[in-house]
Amino acid sequence: MTEDNKKVKSVEGKSGTASAGSVSSDLLGSRVLTCVYCGHEYPDGTPSWNSQALTDHIKICEKHPMRQAEAKIKKLRAALIGLIGAVDKAELEKMEALIRIAPVPDIDKTAGINAIQALLDTASQQSNRRKSRL
Ligand SMILES: [Zn+2]
Repeated sequence: MTEDNKKVKSVEGKSGTASAGSVSSDLLGSRVLTCVYCGHEYPDGTPSWNSQALTDHIKICEKHPMRQAEAKIKKLRAALIGLIGAVDKAELEKMEALIRIAPVPDIDKTAGINAIQALLDTASQQSNRRKSRL
């Protein structure tokens, strides 16, 4: 417990880290680590950085800036899907093959292929990264 308190104290006031925690003390002097975005209280003894509890919460925290970024990615993907007219990997790859042999200016091919690559790359954040074939 003392060890945990020390850890929490040592990172207080540190900025620019991936920490999503904020430490506050109650009247009895025990420290409560809370999410800086939504105020979620972490279990006693949660370190303010490099903790699974923090990582897990960041993934689901409604107010974390990542949710905004994800919403934007979703919006951009929807716009690209509307332009390209394909969603799944097989469809996109077929579309790319068609674009490569289509009698259109290179600039249009590049734009189409880039759009397809962007859709493929953002299809699933946690799946293995595709190698670029360009
Ligand atoms: Zn939160």
